[in-house]
Amino acid sequence: MKSAVRVRFAPSPTGGLHLGGVRTALFNYLFARHHGGTFVLRIEDTDQTRFVPGAEHYILDCLEWCGISPDEGPHKEGRFGPYRQSERKSTYRAFAEQLIQQGHAYYAFDTPEELEAMRERFKSENNPSPQYNASIRAHMRNSLALDASEVERLLSEKTPHVIRINVPANQTVVLHDMIRGEVHFNSNEVDDKVLLKADGMPTYHLAVVVDDYQMQISHAFRGEEWLPSAPVHLLLWDFLGWKNSMPQWAHLPLILKPDGHGKLSKRDGDRLGFPVFAMDWHDPRTQELTRGFREMGFLPEAFINMLALLGWNDGSGEEVFDRSQLCERFSVDRIHKGGARFDFEKAKWFNQEWIKRKRDEELAPQVCERMKQQGIQVTQEAITPLIGLVKERCQTLMDFIPQLDYFFRDPVSVDWNSIRAKWDSGKKNFFTEWSNELAALAEWKTEAIEDSFKQVAIRLGIKPGEVQLSLRIMLVGGKFGPPVFLIAHYLQKDSTLSRISHAIHILDDAASS
Ligand code: GLU
Repeated sequence: MKSAVRVRFAPSPTGGLHLGGVRTALFNYLFARHHGGTFVLRIEDTDQTRFVPGAEHYILDCLEWCGISPDEGPHKEGRFGPYRQSERKSTYRAFAEQLIQQGHAYYAFDTPEELEAMRERFKSENNPSPQYNASIRAHMRNSLALDASEVERLLSEKTPHVIRINVPANQTVVLHDMIRGEVHFNSNEVDDKVLLKADGMPTYHLAVVVDDYQMQISHAFRGEEWLPSAPVHLLLWDFLGWKNSMPQWAHLPLILKPDGHGKLSKRDGDRLGFPVFAMDWHDPRTQELTRGFREMGFLPEAFINMLALLGWNDGSGEEVFDRSQLCERFSVDRIHKGGARFDFEKAKWFNQEWIKRKRDEELAPQVCERMKQQGIQVTQEAITPLIGLVKERCQTLMDFIPQLDYFFRDPVSVDWNSIRAKWDSGKKNFFTEWSNELAALAEWKTEAIEDSFKQVAIRLGIKPGEVQLSLRIMLVGGKFGPPVFLIAHYLQKDSTLSRISHAIHILDDAASS
């Protein structure tokens, strides 16, 4: 049985999903799961000028990738649909008209030029951008200021008009926020927001209230940037007579730039070289590509774990939680009031922790796909035994590529200089002799390879340590990777021998020139 808890994530389909947006979705999801409730996705697409094709699909894909798919939404119809506001257009006008009848809203006929003239006229040093409000509305062309007969005429002539909320002067509007406690607003600071536009489409302010009511939303989590809109919404809940059904509000703390100064933006990511979006976003208007955590090699488990801890913790000091632990432990009273600083190094740490926790078989398909994208011919079967050798060194799935590349093809670049400095005939001798022994080796096993290496070194009076780094560079290309004899084992005899012989040629040529 579902509980009465119903929460909604209500994005506008205007572009890629910023990690703040995903965190809002996540907190909604966790709260719903914790209370056995329902997580609704509502697409707030009333602003047709900002609509971007593909954005809705992208949002759904992101939620799915994160493992927090909605219980109801445009792609999973429930009792409360449709879940796109544009498809609910016919619902809203009646409520706007009701507000007019009750004196809580009014028709406004002002043209864009008249609005501009108003701003010019009332602009002052103290008030650089005057708003349409109680002190100004009497000077404008609206149904509160004009004669009833004039209003009648304008309406019957179908003069373009909007419907605005009639915000009362000098009132205190009190928000009870689950995170912030009581927040007081003076209604003089609130303008007479448009509720219904000239084309009959509601604005966000009207639609959000009507939909939260009709969809029986019990708790509304959203970003702190919506706090200034809260008094408009509270007034509407009151005016429409629905106050007793109003959701409990929670305005989530901002996600801050790494230096803690200001809200994290997409531009910070571009500037500092980390993703801010959940997944790659191709903007169909500008063709611009914005990188996402998924494509940068993050696991969804790590991504949501990191996001959950941006502004919340369970008080235990533990940090690594899977989704079901997060659902179990989530509580609103442990959400912080202050902004949460984004730290990319910490994000990578979470990813590394999750990479370590994943079984090699689970990682193999993803690593395999990424290597293939780089043109490296691999199979999952070949990759699986190698994952465990290198995963300690990988913070992202992309880090596996250089760590595994040389197992499947000759190193793309080789740090010859590191060998060359100490290359001499003794070393050449050693590698030639050892190659002959390896060629005759009956069993291609790590210990056997290592034993023969040491024996040849002793026989030729060379310290094994002196040639081991050279061997690594010959096989791998650089000074990294798992134990070198293990590498040789996985490379198999032919590749090992061909890389050594290639190296002897290169180093010899260099020595004789
Ligand atoms: N449509 C708003 C947004 O894009 C939703 C705000 C709210 O949750 O009330 O974020």
